[in-house]
Amino acid sequence: MALADLAPVERNEEGIAAVLGILRQRFGERFQTGQAIREQHGHTTTYIPNQLPDGVAFVETTEEVSEIVRVCAEHTVPVIAFGVGSSLEGHVNAPGGGISIDMSRMNRVLAVNAEDLDCTVEAGVTREELNTYLRDTGLFFPIDPGANASLGGMASTRASGTNAVRYGTMRENVLSLTAVMPDGRIVKTGGRARKSSAGYDLTRLLVGSEGTLGIITALTLRLQGIPQAISGGVCPFPSLKTACEAVIQTIQLGIPVARIELVNTLGMQSINSYSKLDYPESPCLFIEFHGTDAGVQEQAEMFGEIADEFGGGPFRWTNVAEERAKLWKARHDAYWAGMALRPGCQNLTTDVCVPISRLAECIEETEIDIAETDLIAPIVGHVGDGNFHVMILVDPDDAEEIARAEGFVSRLNERALSMEGTCTGEHGIGQGKVKYLELEHGAGIDTMKAIKRAIDPLNIMNPGKLFALD
Ligand SMILES: Cc1cc2nc3c(=O)[nH]c(=O)nc-3n(C[C@H](O)[C@H](O)[C@H](O)COP(=O)(O)OP(=O)(O)OC[C@H]3O[C@@H](n4cnc5c(N)ncnc54)[C@H](O)[C@@H]3O)c2cc1C
Repeated sequence: MALADLAPVERNEEGIAAVLGILRQRFGERFQTGQAIREQHGHTTTYIPNQLPDGVAFVETTEEVSEIVRVCAEHTVPVIAFGVGSSLEGHVNAPGGGISIDMSRMNRVLAVNAEDLDCTVEAGVTREELNTYLRDTGLFFPIDPGANASLGGMASTRASGTNAVRYGTMRENVLSLTAVMPDGRIVKTGGRARKSSAGYDLTRLLVGSEGTLGIITALTLRLQGIPQAISGGVCPFPSLKTACEAVIQTIQLGIPVARIELVNTLGMQSINSYSKLDYPESPCLFIEFHGTDAGVQEQAEMFGEIADEFGGGPFRWTNVAEERAKLWKARHDAYWAGMALRPGCQNLTTDVCVPISRLAECIEETEIDIAETDLIAPIVGHVGDGNFHVMILVDPDDAEEIARAEGFVSRLNERALSMEGTCTGEHGIGQGKVKYLELEHGAGIDTMKAIKRAIDPLNIMNPGKLFALD
């Protein structure tokens, strides 16, 4: 994707110069303008060109975020929230320059209410930090994008991951938020009640808004009890189609899988080589069950029978924690394992999501398309939700190959939409999927733009993302 393909945002040189002067004086060492730090806060995870912010502020309180946003609003300068920068579609790029607000120092767990199964955290806390903090409470936070992302970033992209089939996504697990709005006002969207009918649902409006409507500074999250027993394993299948059919049947029968993840043959080869493992090199499902000892045993046996029916197996499962940890580490490392298949490549990762009944058809057509387009592209997926990812490994200097990859991505998105799916199940739109959001929502985009204009009339919050404002 060339710079010319990205939604343009005009630079306001005068405003930026004024803001740089004010923030330097106000934040001293905590406001940085060096090239390396600005590059790191522009987009680094895909082949989308890096567009640097003009300065990076390391904030410590909600009031500091509010102060910076007020200064930027006064001078009409973009503000881009930065969690850990693991988003995959150019989300943290600064096409019109401006100020990156780094949330990593807002990393305090503010409260854990074990009896209510919830907690309140600052937005810079990462999912692993939260689970380490919760270790002795018998509780955990289940949403697990492969990266150790910040909870503010995860709310902003409406992230999910391997556990979503059982516990839902960030949409279901954020109870309320504190956010700084584009005029600097601090808003709290709700309390800790499990449900509420009180007015517009501002929590859900901000979740998934990719920093375009406000900056989240704190979140109240649902927690889960750590299950008494956990079992899991890897099950090989003769083809992608049979693996997907086994998933569909498992979900349709209501077997309460906690995780059910697909990795295709190329993906398995990359995992074996990267993680020094010897799993079967055919399409595999990685599965986990949560419950009581008897419950997880019964679920594993039922799944084994389904796998057998579709020619899969043997399904070897274990409840030994170390073995399960090894299995899921390998699955979470699939991104890096894929990259290692082609040293020097860049990873054009894309995700789509379809209704579960269309999953087999969609993945099968996609694998054929990859072969016909002559791309190196492992497939992995949170298939219990009908969500899968294709990691296309491209030579960043080969324009023809990149054009072929982009053609493939277009067809993949059109295929998912033609099956009543979505152009992204969890990665979000950023810059990379602007045209597919339009394809998916049609006139609905006008309503989204109206909301954006009403809340952020100066268009200073992460401009150039989701859609171009005309
Ligand atoms: C190896 C790998 C595996 C991944 N696997 C998954 C997966 O399984 N599931 C999944 O959903 N994603 C996955 N991702 C993508 C990524 O981890 C998620 O999108 C994650 O939610 C981004 O969080 P972050 O803290 O890195 O946010 P950033 O990348 O820093 O920011 C993401 C977006 O949110 C905005 N933002 C950040 N913080 C705030 C805030 N406090 N307030 C308002 N806006 C904010 C930013 O402006 C930006 O638009 C993966 C990424 C990698 C590299």
